[in-house]
Amino acid sequence: MESPTLELLKESGALLEGHFLLSSGRHSNRYCQSALLLCHPERAARALAPVAEQVRGLGIDAVVGPALGGIVPAYELARQLGVPGLYVEREDEILTLRRGFVIQPGWRILIAEDVVTTGKSTLETAAVIQAAGATVVGVGCIADRGESNLPFPTFAGTQLSIQSWQADGCPLCGQGVPIVKPGTRKQP
Ligand SMILES: [Zn+2]
Repeated sequence: MESPTLELLKESGALLEGHFLLSSGRHSNRYCQSALLLCHPERAARALAPVAEQVRGLGIDAVVGPALGGIVPAYELARQLGVPGLYVEREDEILTLRRGFVIQPGWRILIAEDVVTTGKSTLETAAVIQAAGATVVGVGCIADRGESNLPFPTFAGTQLSIQSWQADGCPLCGQGVPIVKPGTRKQP
């Protein structure tokens, strides 16, 4: 049976089919635009409920997401867990805690993401949390692409397998299919 979170992604039109240039430089035939699910508050709540269930007993003091993609998941997970939901954002390209947000030493923190792919932004967020003397309990996300190798647990609403290729070995390039960078142009 498909996970309810995967069904919500599909029903929201968040799983796009086409030819995509990923931020890693690789090409894929599918892309998860989770903002199309998260823009519906009631669906966001249902998609993240399984994540909140998995972490409820872990003594979490706050949820922290990297801007922009992690802001709404952090807010929604924080709401369901009854703790503060903070975010880190880039200042001179470095993820930083701004706006008067404080992470207390000793806090147990859940990182929040929309989709975890390589885990790069997750690790950058973890570095900010650890620098404050707090502990990263894990990362909660809508979807886990299963390509990260993070040093803490991943709590995902759904697993999401998306095939991707190096640019020079991409079959869609071979077929002459126009490529789009997700989020920056009109989708096909
Ligand atoms: Zn291609």
